[in-house]
Formats: sequence, C-alpha cells, structure tokens
Amino acid sequence: AKAKSRGSITFYEPEMDQQIRDRRVLHQELSVAIKHGELSLYFQPQASSGHTVDSSEIIGFEALARWHNPVRGFVPPSDFIPLAEESGMIVEMGEWILREACREAASWPKPLQVAVNLSPAQFVHGDLVALVHSILLETGLAPGRLELEITEGVLIEDFDRGVALLRRLKALGVRVSMDDFGSGYSSLSYLQAFPFDKIKIDRAFVMNLGRNPQSAAIIRAVIGLGHGMNMSIVAEGVETQEQLGFLAEQGCDSVQGYLLGKPLPIDKYDGVVGRAHDD
Ligand code: C2E
Ligand code: CA
Ligand code: CA
Ligand code: CA
Repeated sequence: AKAKSRGSITFYEPEMDQQIRDRRVLHQELSVAIKHGELSLYFQPQASSGHTVDSSEIIGFEALARWHNPVRGFVPPSDFIPLAEESGMIVEMGEWILREACREAASWPKPLQVAVNLSPAQFVHGDLVALVHSILLETGLAPGRLELEITEGVLIEDFDRGVALLRRLKALGVRVSMDDFGSGYSSLSYLQAFPFDKIKIDRAFVMNLGRNPQSAAIIRAVIGLGHGMNMSIVAEGVETQEQLGFLAEQGCDSVQGYLLGKPLPIDKYDGVVGRAHDD
C-alpha cells in the first residue's frame, strides 16, 4: 500500500494499512497535546567533569520533552518528535518547549545553564532568531544561561544561511552546541565552518568505552580537536564511574548521563536549583 502524509494533506488508499491509520490518529492527538497540557519538560543535569560523582558539580540541565497521553500513556520523544517533525507540528511545539524551558530556568534561585534541543524545521520555518530573542525578553532569562543544541546535518543544507544563523544566535548572547557529534555526517570542515561553542560527544562513543578501544581514541581526538578550536566538550550518556574517570582524565569539560542524574521533573532537583523542598 502506498500512502503519504505531508503536512495536513493526506492521501488515502483503500488498502491503507493499520500502521498508517494509527499514525494519522497519533498526528491528531499530538496536535492537541499542547492545548491539553499533555506535554511537559524533564530536566537532566549536566556537570563539570570531576573524577568522581562527588567532585562533579552540576552546572545546568538539558530540557527534554515528554508527552503523556491519557489513553496511550507515556509516549517517548524518539516516537513523537519525528512525528511532530513530519507533520510540521514541531515548529509550534518547539516554541512551547523553548519558552517553557526559559521560563523554568529564569525561576531558579541559582543561575544555572539550560540547554534546549532545536529541530531542523525550526531553522527553516519562521524567524528563529527573533523567536529566541523575544522569549529571552519575555522570560527575563539572561542569554548567557541559554544553550541551543543543534544536531549536525541541520545547517549543511544551506551552508551560508546556516553560518549566518549561528552567528545571529550567538550575537544574542546564547551559546550553540553541536549535538550527537560523531553520529552522522560530521566532518572536520563542518566543525571549522560553523561557529559552535560546544561539541556534545554522542552517547554511542561513551557507551563503547571499555568495550571498543577505538571509542577511546575517537573521544580523545574529539576533545583535542574541539579544544584546539576553542570549543568546550560535553559527553552524553555517562553511566559508569569508569567512563566518568576516563572523560575527566582526558580533559572533557562536562558530562551528562544517568550516573550524574536521570531526566526528571524539575521539582526533583529543587535542592540543586536552590529552591527549598517542601517534603
Ligand atoms: P538527545 O538530544 O541526544 O538527548 C539525550 C537522550 O539520551 C535523552 O533521551 C536522555 O534521556 C538520554 N540519556 C541521557 N543520559 C543517558 C544515559 O546515561 N544512558 C542512556 N541510555 N540514555 C541517556 P530522550 O529524553 O528519550 O530523548 C531522545 C531524543 O529525543 C533526544 O536525544 C532528542 O533528539 C529528542 N528530543 C527530546 N526532547 C526534545 C525537545 O524538546 N526538542 C527536540 N527537538 N528534540 C527532543
Ligand atoms: Ca540533546
Ligand atoms: Ca545528544
Ligand atoms: Ca541523541
């Protein structure tokens, strides 16, 4: 069966299979998710890399979207983000996520960093720079506390426009990091062309530390390369003390992963952000 769904136009065929029908329903449910208050943000700590958990200090959080549908229950972002991208809904959703993350961070007694993921569609549709600017003004968040995570590949489609966009974002005072470095099309020229402040080493390399000697070599090389280009390095998916120790020893600037803390509703981190708990 052939059926295509692009934006709001859907082509039906009688033999359209169940999977595609399910998708259509999911699209519709997702389109009202924001209105119904079903979306929320979880926050995962990012810490300076000490050699142990105790000597690693939390310096900020990455905001991660969560969708809780009353019927379906919890839908993971790996399912609904691609869906939102495909339907164009990600533009509206991304705006909600950015505003919510900035509003939340602005309310913390401690001036910690907040990192927000951007989707490719947010670069193409609407004026992203104007949006970031107005959300910063609206929420009162200091621009230096906001970091935008961008996956590699997004900017390459229109190279000149990509470079200009990053420059304009940085001119607002926010930082930009290249997410999932090493997982896709990353090349050295890419790093050289785009003025990123930070490289996020993909979880896959961290996961393979200890199993695969090449991972250690790659991580070492990326840290050296990034530092040589004045970028800071964060490693994601840090789950063990061994991984943390290795990364700290190699001079990785910061770390994120279950070892340091899972993504949770922000009230679970009240103490960290400097708010009194009420339990
Ligand atoms: P990502 O940006 O690479 O986010 C990191 C993912 O790794 C998160 O998955 C996080 O929960 C998970 N993670 C963190 N530490 C560990 C660890 O130690 N071990 C393991 N196994 N996993 C760890 P999550 O929250 O399921 O998000 C998946 C992806 O969905 C994100 O990958 C990102 O690409 C996308 N996503 C999530 N929230 C947003 C959002 O607000 N906007 C956009 N555009 N994309 C989002
Ligand atoms: Ca990310
Ligand atoms: Ca990532
Ligand atoms: Ca990822």
